[in-house]
Amino acid sequence: MHEAAVAQDLLEVICKEARKQEARPVAARISCGQLNAINDEVLCFAFEAIARGTACEGMTLQVEHKSMQARCSRCKDVFDLNLAEARCPSCGVDDFELLPDAPLVLEEIEFDKE
Ligand SMILES: [Zn+2]
Repeated sequence: MHEAAVAQDLLEVICKEARKQEARPVAARISCGQLNAINDEVLCFAFEAIARGTACEGMTLQVEHKSMQARCSRCKDVFDLNLAEARCPSCGVDDFELLPDAPLVLEEIEFDKE
C-alpha cells in the first residue's frame, strides 16, 4: 500500500500549508517518476478517504508522470527515454545510461482565497 502512505504524507503537508495560508485547499498537483509510479486512482481514493473531516476534504489531486531520462554514452545528450525506441535522439546510438528516476514531488497547492 505505497499509495496510502503517500496520501498520508500529502495530507499532512497540505493541511499544514492550509493552516499557514489560512485558506481552504481546493486542488494539488504532484509529479512522480516511472519506477516509483503511483496509481492515480488508488492514490486519489486513499486521499479522499483520509481527508474526510479535515481541511483537505473534497480537494482534487492531479498526478503528473515524468518520463525516465537517459544520458547518451557517446554525445552525452540527456533525453526522455522512449521505451518503444530506446536510442539517443541526437546521434542515434542505443548506448546510454539511465538517470535516477524522478522523486515524488508536491508541485503546487491551489487555495480558495475567498
Ligand atoms: Zn547521442
